[in-house]
Amino acid sequence: AKLNGKNRFTIYNNTLDGDQAKQSEEMVRNLQAAIELDQIEVYYQPKINASTEDIMGFEALVRWEHPELGIISPGLFIPLAEQTDLIYPIGLLVIEKAAECLKKWQKQYKIPLTMSVNLSPIQLNDKDLTSKISHIIDKTGIHPKHLDFEITESEKFKSVKDALLMFKKIVNLGCTLSIDDFGTGHSTLDYLRKIPAKTLKIDQVFVKNIGLSPDDEAILDATIDMAKRVGHFIVAEGVETEEQRQYLTNKGCDYFQGYLFCRPLPKKEIERILLQREEILKNN
Ligand code: C2E
Ligand code: MG
Ligand code: MG
Ligand code: MG
Repeated sequence: AKLNGKNRFTIYNNTLDGDQAKQSEEMVRNLQAAIELDQIEVYYQPKINASTEDIMGFEALVRWEHPELGIISPGLFIPLAEQTDLIYPIGLLVIEKAAECLKKWQKQYKIPLTMSVNLSPIQLNDKDLTSKISHIIDKTGIHPKHLDFEITESEKFKSVKDALLMFKKIVNLGCTLSIDDFGTGHSTLDYLRKIPAKTLKIDQVFVKNIGLSPDDEAILDATIDMAKRVGHFIVAEGVETEEQRQYLTNKGCDYFQGYLFCRPLPKKEIERILLQREEILKNN
């Protein structure tokens, strides 16, 4: 992918002053190199079944393992990747690695895990996205129904109509969709009606405010109730305390994700956890 004139223009004009622009250009070059040097890694965070407390699946979360700067979080480089063409190779790389792990773990531990991958709204502009996903599904031999894509409503959609069409194509492959960060940003009830998603992920801000903000609790309760009525599964993000877990369990949340259970971890550490789980089950 090359930085064309148009993208460079965007970087200069929209957000940055001269110095920052230079830094940013350098970062774009470094990010490009990072892809080639295999520094883009995927971490995995377990999703926990609220009633059994067992691992139901994972969310794939990208990391840039920088040799000098250490681990760079996606919040710092995904926006830059989205302003250039780099989101396309990075996005595919994440789907590919996540699908490979899913296949390996399902085979090794014989559990019907799912894998969720975040999709950038920019990736939807790739007309070949579904054929690329389909290729990865065939190559890895995973079942498409175990591959989930987390999407958000975004001002970055070129056209909402085209985005919705792409979502339908992804569902037609047999994959599922989750609406991420629900209740923040641009997510609307209209979007919820139109998207063929199975799952709604409640944003962390609402979970954070359990026990702190009665207003946010009211919004949370109403959201869970509404999602259940329209037949969606509910994942609560950012669960950090026992109090939050208890509250969300009582309200009928289906799945949890958060530091209370597990942080996002590299492949090897997840494998250690899956092995431990297997041993515990064997001894029971
Ligand atoms: P997200 O999809 O909403 O992911 C959840 C974020 O919450 C992750 O941050 C995760 O590490 C963090 N998290 C999980 N449990 C807890 C908790 O208990 N407490 C707190 N404070 N945080 C928790 P992360 O990994 O830094 O990712 C940030 C965002 O970057 C993601 O938000 C997603 O929007 C984006 N992202 C991550 N990976 C990818 C990717 O492969 N492609 C794209 N396009 N975006 C990605
Ligand atoms: Mg997500
Ligand atoms: Mg989220
Ligand atoms: Mg988020």
